[in-house]
Amino acid sequence: MQKTKNIAIIGSGLVGSLLAIYLRKRGHEVTVFDRRQDVRKVEFSGRSINLAMSNRGWSALRKVGVEKDIRELALALDKRALHVNEKPIYFQKYGKEGEAIYSISRGVLNRKMIDLAEETGAKFRFEEKVWDVNLAEAKIYTGESEKAEWQEYQFDMVFGADGAFSRVRHKMQRNSRFNYSQNFIDVGYKELTIPANSDGSHKLDNASFHIWPRGEFMLIAMPNLDGSFTCTLFMPFEGDISFEKIKTEVEAEKFFSEYFPDIKSDISNLTKDFFKNPTSAMVTMKCYPWTYWDKVALVGDSAHAIVPFYGQGMNAGFEDISVLDELIEKYNDDWEMIFQEYQKSRKPNADAIAELSYRNFVEMSSKTANPQFILRKKIEKHFADKYPEKWIPLYSRVTFSDKPYADALAIGDKQRDIMDEVMAFPGIEDKWETEEVNELILELLHSEAIKA
Ligand SMILES: Cc1cc2nc3c(=O)[nH]c(=O)nc-3n(C[C@H](O)[C@H](O)[C@H](O)COP(=O)(O)OP(=O)(O)OC[C@H]3O[C@@H](n4cnc5c(N)ncnc54)[C@H](O)[C@@H]3O)c2cc1C
Repeated sequence: MQKTKNIAIIGSGLVGSLLAIYLRKRGHEVTVFDRRQDVRKVEFSGRSINLAMSNRGWSALRKVGVEKDIRELALALDKRALHVNEKPIYFQKYGKEGEAIYSISRGVLNRKMIDLAEETGAKFRFEEKVWDVNLAEAKIYTGESEKAEWQEYQFDMVFGADGAFSRVRHKMQRNSRFNYSQNFIDVGYKELTIPANSDGSHKLDNASFHIWPRGEFMLIAMPNLDGSFTCTLFMPFEGDISFEKIKTEVEAEKFFSEYFPDIKSDISNLTKDFFKNPTSAMVTMKCYPWTYWDKVALVGDSAHAIVPFYGQGMNAGFEDISVLDELIEKYNDDWEMIFQEYQKSRKPNADAIAELSYRNFVEMSSKTANPQFILRKKIEKHFADKYPEKWIPLYSRVTFSDKPYADALAIGDKQRDIMDEVMAFPGIEDKWETEEVNELILELLHSEAIKA
């Protein structure tokens, strides 16, 4: 049993509330601060932003005994449904039988996580913004505004779970040798809604992650428990086809008629919502170190914000917490060691999932509709089904495993090289299911060139 510490967590988002549960179960005093109102008191339909929970997220929830509570809020999606104009919907299984990602509303999930954290005894202080942190002394300062009088709190330890624009990290940035980079991509996103049918059923298959890939831009839709779908349009901010080019309701109408004719009439208040809902930006943020002595540590988006195209931001943040807990188990009261090992083990993995997420936008928006790409995926699946111990596709390594992201990236790059050679094999379109192709892959897997 660890010595009880008095711990502050800044941020009651998904990662902060999970950390609160873990630390309470270890017997610590936990106070969570959030600048926002209590999300449980905010009116929302349960529709806005939904997230894909996958293996790493479930695993972190399971270890602390709350997986079952969250499963009830999620819908299993075992495949992609690709909507390419003038073609029937093409379904592509994500993994093996029984493997799925889970659609869950961020707001609903956050409410439940806070409930669960409170049940374990964590205290929450909402509408209390942290303005400053004394890193060496684990003191935090809250108040009405930057200029107002601040209240000082003394803790033994402070965790920054305050998201991509973290105030705690901001303070760490002033230290010498603190590395930091932030990169906004040129693509933005806007959310729209497909409401349920009048009998409450879903308008599209509710066990699929729907994608309308259109090259430089794409629309996706994920189902909610209430029969609706949350759609997200990802598109460049500027350029020929871009948010800046759609300025009027007529232009919005025309854009959807041209590129998304099969779904346009199902999106509620399309033209109104298009202008009412914000166009949001996406950022990759990297930094290091993530900790300060045995006093302060960053977790979740405050340490590693990534673009959402692999559906892993929250999953990676949850994994931070379960790794931290494994290190607590190992090093007990040696918090300096726990923090050192935590940042050392997580940083390469956070960088890897940042890279994979960035690459996945190109895959989702332009490659998924490409026949060569579809064939490539079929070959991989065919080979993986036959030799499951020799080939785990990259998507499965990231989504359905808890092996390090860094390994997934490295092995995925080797597999890509192999598949480049396989796709160049003469007559591959007709021969892809033959032993000849299987033999070729086996040979390439053993070849020095690929190993190097
Ligand atoms: C469009 C989109 C889709 C996504 N899809 C997925 C997905 O499918 N799967 C997935 O795993 N991830 C997904 N993500 C990523 C996921 O949403 C984030 O990784 C996750 O929410 C991070 O949680 P967090 O608790 O670290 O930070 P946040 O959720 O940002 O929470 C930070 C909290 O800190 C509070 N706070 C901030 N500053 C202060 C302060 N100074 N004082 C007090 N409180 C403060 C905020 O109010 C907030 O409550 C997606 C993200 C986006 C944008």
